[in-house]
Amino acid sequence: MGKIVVVGSINMDYTAMLAELPHPGETLLAKNFKMSGGGKGANQAMAAAIFSDQVTMIGMLGNDPAGHALYKKMQSKGIDVSCIEFTETPTGNALINVAEQGKNTIVVFPGANHQLTAAHVAKYKDVIEAADMVMMQLEIPMETVRFVTDMAYAANVPVFLNPAPAQALDADLLSKVTYITPNETELLRITQSFDSTRGAVSLMNLGVKNVIITLGSNGCYMKNASEEGRIGTFKVNAIDTTAAGDSFSGALAAQLANGVPLKEALVFANATGALTTTKIGAQEALPTKEEVIELMKQGQ
Ligand code: ADP
Repeated sequence: MGKIVVVGSINMDYTAMLAELPHPGETLLAKNFKMSGGGKGANQAMAAAIFSDQVTMIGMLGNDPAGHALYKKMQSKGIDVSCIEFTETPTGNALINVAEQGKNTIVVFPGANHQLTAAHVAKYKDVIEAADMVMMQLEIPMETVRFVTDMAYAANVPVFLNPAPAQALDADLLSKVTYITPNETELLRITQSFDSTRGAVSLMNLGVKNVIITLGSNGCYMKNASEEGRIGTFKVNAIDTTAAGDSFSGALAAQLANGVPLKEALVFANATGALTTTKIGAQEALPTKEEVIELMKQGQ
């Protein structure tokens, strides 16, 4: 089994379920409320841990009850938490509204995640260089993302970037990325194109080796030097799409690190993402390995 090192955010998510999303200035009563572990980094590490027992998380938590609870939760899932540190800045959090039919809005307070500097991560150079896959998102300082990418690239460790939340990325960073997994919004922000094929070509022209675009209920589209195509997802009863992309990316990174060929790994990723939409929340909504295998047996 391959070693995955996730360098990323860890949040406490506060999710309210509503009939519809509030407009500015409007107060609505929530039908339900849930607190759960979140942050794209932690979500993806948890999703990777469905398929791998060699996941290490590098991250920063606040020295507060939420921070300690999240640390214990990740540890209980078999994630190596020895590279997670605590700071006096509060633990990052996300305020999530989920409306009926699964539409959501999310406000993120980065908190401790923004203390995850390059200087901090430099302490874990050996861990990063020994990895079979380094996985990142964009909820930590961009300087840290660049620093880790350079370090991994120099050591021939594949870099898996989930470019979320959406933001523009420079050519130097992209040229060192082995796998990128934008959704359509993120693709538009990075490439100015909403079209999967055109967007993938422009990312490959910048040096990205494998482009995987997630397409919600339409599954995903992949392109690299030798293969191209859309891989359909599984029919499920989607009630909350929070963390669908995270679960897709985590599962994909784990299966690739395990040596599963890309197209086959994408079927696991679609199934994992699809199942995540059938439950409320982020990490709480992640399926088990057995559930993923069962859905794959049932087929699309
Ligand atoms: P994000 O959550 O980042 O916006 P997507 O909405 O594209 O990402 O979802 C990520 C993946 O989750 C998709 O590629 C697909 O595999 C799965 N997925 C998302 N929504 C659905 C759905 N309604 N039905 C089945 N699978 C879904």
